[in-house]
Amino acid sequence: MKTIFNDSKGHVFTGISVILIISFIIIVILFLNLNYFITEETNQIIASDNLKYIVEDYNKNIEVLSYTSLKEISENVIKSKTPLKDSSEEFKKVLNEKLSNKNKEYLKKYDIKIESNVISIENSESPEYLKFKTIITVEKDNEKYNNVLESKTSVLNLKDPLGILLCSPDPSLSYNETNILFGNSLSKYLEKRNVENHENYINATAPLILKKCPYDPYIHHGDNHTLADCIKNSYYHESADGSCYLCRLEGKPLCPHYGFETFIIPRANIENNLSSVSSPDHVVFADNYPGDPYYYFNDSNKIIFLDSSHKKKYGL
Ligand SMILES: [Zn+2]
Ligand SMILES: [Zn+2]
Repeated sequence: MKTIFNDSKGHVFTGISVILIISFIIIVILFLNLNYFITEETNQIIASDNLKYIVEDYNKNIEVLSYTSLKEISENVIKSKTPLKDSSEEFKKVLNEKLSNKNKEYLKKYDIKIESNVISIENSESPEYLKFKTIITVEKDNEKYNNVLESKTSVLNLKDPLGILLCSPDPSLSYNETNILFGNSLSKYLEKRNVENHENYINATAPLILKKCPYDPYIHHGDNHTLADCIKNSYYHESADGSCYLCRLEGKPLCPHYGFETFIIPRANIENNLSSVSSPDHVVFADNYPGDPYYYFNDSNKIIFLDSSHKKKYGL
């Protein structure tokens, strides 16, 4: 080595070697940097996909929890027999509590920080569904994602507290898993509203579970035993006059939204055969116009009362 460094040719050789070594080091650094950059970018793509997946998964939670919230709310309204002042606010409150617990679970299990706030709930084009909006912020590994999620929840197969709210407190009113049994309560309610032949609604019954009538278009209720089957199964129908689910929780038999109607069934074997208030629930509870007796099952005394416009709607 000494001889090479001392040699004049050696100086040249060493100079070239140094340049080559430095170039090599620069190339290595550049390559490593490039490689680092590629890896970083791939990680970011994977992380973003992860966040997307997390948000999709979270949205499924929202849909399940929103239905559970409505179920819990309706059960409480029925138990307390007290209408809600503002069903939308109550929904936001109950769902926000459930989401806050879910957010704690995400932080503990997956180290993901989620903040959420349900900001609105309203009726959709169909009375079967309610739409609502939730603002969420998801944070994981220095990545942050904000969005307003739009979700919807069904109201089918939930309990309808309307009849219980309007005819309570009356010790003769009771209910089981499927129906409201009015005892004397509905007849008394109608008497106060000066409805003729209100006695025809002594021991009347109404559905308790909001089940959708499958006989659509409704005009087919006049075919064979369709109406009898609809009444036996306690179905509900879409109606511009009947109230929506959110308003039913507030004890309102009428509302400006597109809603539902169901039949209130007077007891069978009514002796006087006189007309009484028409049987769709918004008419019985609020509109109070009369209907003629309609025997809905051949050779029996099973009766409802119907006005001409509802007869037309159901093809009867
Ligand atoms: Zn029906
Ligand atoms: Zn309404």
